[in-house]
Amino acid sequence: MGKYTLKCLACEKEYEDDFFRLECDNRHVPSLLRTEYEKDKINVKEDRPGMFKFEDFLPVSRTLDVKGAPVTYRSEQLAKYLGLENLFIIFNGYWPEKGAYMETASFKELEAPSVLGRIPENCTDTIVVASAGNTGRAFAYVCSRNHIPLVLVVPEENKDEIWSTEPYNSNVRLVCAGGNSDYTDAIMLAGKMTGLKGFFPEGGAKNVARRDGMATTVLDAAHRMKKIPDHYFQAVGSGTGGIAAWESYVRLREDGSYGDGKMTLHLSQNAPFTPITDAWNGGQRSFPELDEKRAKEDIRRIKAHVLSNRKPPYSIKGGVFDVMSDSSGRMYSVTNEEVIKAQELFAHYEKIDIHPAAGVALGSLIQAKEQKLIRSHDYIALNVTGGGEDRVKDELQIHFLEPLVTFTDEEIHCDGIEEMLQDILVTY
Ligand SMILES: [Zn+2]
Repeated sequence: MGKYTLKCLACEKEYEDDFFRLECDNRHVPSLLRTEYEKDKINVKEDRPGMFKFEDFLPVSRTLDVKGAPVTYRSEQLAKYLGLENLFIIFNGYWPEKGAYMETASFKELEAPSVLGRIPENCTDTIVVASAGNTGRAFAYVCSRNHIPLVLVVPEENKDEIWSTEPYNSNVRLVCAGGNSDYTDAIMLAGKMTGLKGFFPEGGAKNVARRDGMATTVLDAAHRMKKIPDHYFQAVGSGTGGIAAWESYVRLREDGSYGDGKMTLHLSQNAPFTPITDAWNGGQRSFPELDEKRAKEDIRRIKAHVLSNRKPPYSIKGGVFDVMSDSSGRMYSVTNEEVIKAQELFAHYEKIDIHPAAGVALGSLIQAKEQKLIRSHDYIALNVTGGGEDRVKDELQIHFLEPLVTFTDEEIHCDGIEEMLQDILVTY
């Protein structure tokens, strides 16, 4: 495993990792920590399980039993249609013919192994994860397979997203945020849970392991292209994937083996819920307080419902605003109609189904081409963050995880919620 320290991006204080640290101890503006690996050159180890082949740049103390890794390939048909000479697809999902074995069909299967591999093997406390769907499915799958205790908190309307190709073990439990709850309410409920003894938070964007797990998409792309991509396209909900991509670029630049090119971030959201796009395109350094009712209505109207975070790590030091500034990045708003068209195009030319969020990313690539923001010979990495779900469901048996309990949004915001959680989680 690679040796590393955690460095605060605000005050530059460095920490030895205690395996749980999410923040700096010093008092200053909110800031992310970033992993500083002792090795500055990555050695890709093909004999490791799944995405652990990138373990040199993962803050983990052990590998887990996983199969998934990003698979980058050069597009021919879609590239020709778009008039792009060097379009590379970073495929995250299930596509055995391409060597892609993420059975949850989502790139969140890159976050879970990295986060869980950071936790010491002898830890008996339970990790709590809030999710809009894909992240939860990935954590449940990896935790069940590796017998790691997990409580998952998901909006009730997304609970059908929690499925697996293997029956769940009893170490994995599901709690739903019901009523008029959305993902942000699920995050609040998870926050209450982590106040209880024996439970700890996964940490979201603040967890370096989560970001460095997602960052393997850019490592894989550069490894396949043999250079740093000129442009990187991804759809974002919280923007954490964009932050991770940029951090990966910074490491590759320091590595030096992939040239000294600059990578531009092209991040996208699904209209009408586009708060990060609106903030960035409006030149805002701070993220506005969203009107909750309006935001929830907009979230219900988007096809890519996983892109639904109302409180993204935008203004935090090292967050979305900073990485977009550093990369001279672009943000896009992609309509549902454009998403559907992009999904159809991908299925037609590349012969595999992709998630709506990946359709958002492709929709933004089409916009960039039309607006002449990219040149036909540029090296372009398109992160297909989820695909092959239709294939999984056709070819493999699917198991669902039933909720242990469902709380209404009134219950989540009431004073007695901690006691209710204590009773339920300790009793069962
Ligand atoms: Zn600090």
